Amino acid sequence: MRYRSTRAASAPLTLGGALTRGLAEDGGLYVPERFPSFTREDFARVETLPEIARILLEPFFAGDELERELPAICADAFTFPIPLRPLPRKGAVSVLELFHGPTAAFKDIGARFLAACLQRLERDASAPLTILVATSGDTGGAVAAAFDARAGIEVRVLYPAGGVSPRQEQQLTCWSDNVRAYRVAGVFDDCQRLVKQALTSSELSGLRLSSANSINIGRLLPQAVYYAAAALWHWRESGQPAAFVVPTGNLGNAVAAVWARAMGLPIGELVLATNANAVIPEFLSSGEWSPRRSVATLASAMDVGDPSNMERLRDLHRDFDELEKSVRAWAVDDEQIRAQILTDYRRCNEIWCPHTATGFYVRDHHLDPNRHFTVVATAHPAKFETVIEPLLDTTVQVPPALARLLTLPTRRTDIGTDFDAFAAHLTDD
Ligand SMILES: *Cc1c(COP(=O)(O)O)cnc(C)c1O
Repeated sequence: MRYRSTRAASAPLTLGGALTRGLAEDGGLYVPERFPSFTREDFARVETLPEIARILLEPFFAGDELERELPAICADAFTFPIPLRPLPRKGAVSVLELFHGPTAAFKDIGARFLAACLQRLERDASAPLTILVATSGDTGGAVAAAFDARAGIEVRVLYPAGGVSPRQEQQLTCWSDNVRAYRVAGVFDDCQRLVKQALTSSELSGLRLSSANSINIGRLLPQAVYYAAAALWHWRESGQPAAFVVPTGNLGNAVAAVWARAMGLPIGELVLATNANAVIPEFLSSGEWSPRRSVATLASAMDVGDPSNMERLRDLHRDFDELEKSVRAWAVDDEQIRAQILTDYRRCNEIWCPHTATGFYVRDHHLDPNRHFTVVATAHPAKFETVIEPLLDTTVQVPPALARLLTLPTRRTDIGTDFDAFAAHLTDD
């Protein structure tokens, strides 16, 4: 299998090449040259996530230097449960919990899989690969956790001072020596600028630098695995295709669901829930694509005004008619998020994070109540305790993996927004 750019100007690459490069040289995103096609029988008698992953991803690794390592990569990446849980008191609805990883959000899954791949690709490298991540909170923690203590790979996380919550800061700063955190006296955009400048600087050309942002195809492929698994489990229970509601920001999670369906898995309707950043629902209803600056909402990990994976979705569905049939989408504002969190706490004693709440709002207000939907839970509510606890007037129990992180000692370096000083740290630290 080879990978081409959505913009078609760059030559196709092997999987290893696409994973290492991240973004194509022409600015496009890598997509597989074709999708394999599966039937349910291909997964007969397999149950566990690593086994489902191995079968689903085999064609994507075919012919690559990583091909023989796929079983080990799947075992290394899928180490925590991803339960599909029916909600008995809520009618025809289940929840797919993607938040049982080390930093309690779904980005752990993609980041861990990418780390498992890169570590093996880098095994024989003479100099370490340094991965730079600018983060406004969640992504940096997942990437740091995934690469923690992996030989041959260094991680440098940049985050804005005062721009992340105390619990998020803990998750950025509590790792082994190969993961260092820089607290930047600026905003997220300053962090991102420093990373971009470092990646293109001739001054730093002696270092092997890369990034691990969410457009890397190594993060999308493993996300297709949990949609495949949930759809197979649902089929075995009900004999019906699974319909999903996916809280959506940059569209990475949702595109993985669309890909799993394109590969023949028993998946029916796919519904996207955004926060007040409503570019996707507006596009689907008007046909006009108008990306813009994002606005801040309670579901902050979905504050995206120009979702980059739209390029992958439009690449798969070249006609607008086809795209319109592929997904539906609604936006949910902060007031509706709060109301949904309160309602479900009172009605069924469930606490959702603000992102997951957008999914339940869409399920309850826009979809046929008699049809079964699985709402995707993207983070544990304990990550967003500053929103949830005052609203519900209760304490959210912290899951054990996250609780352990919150007790580890931390370390960080304070830097300004000046590039030369940052570059000196990269060379010397
Ligand atoms: C990143 C994130 C999202 C949005 O996922 P996309 O792939 O960007 O659409 C939703 N919820 C949480 C908790 C996230 O961290």
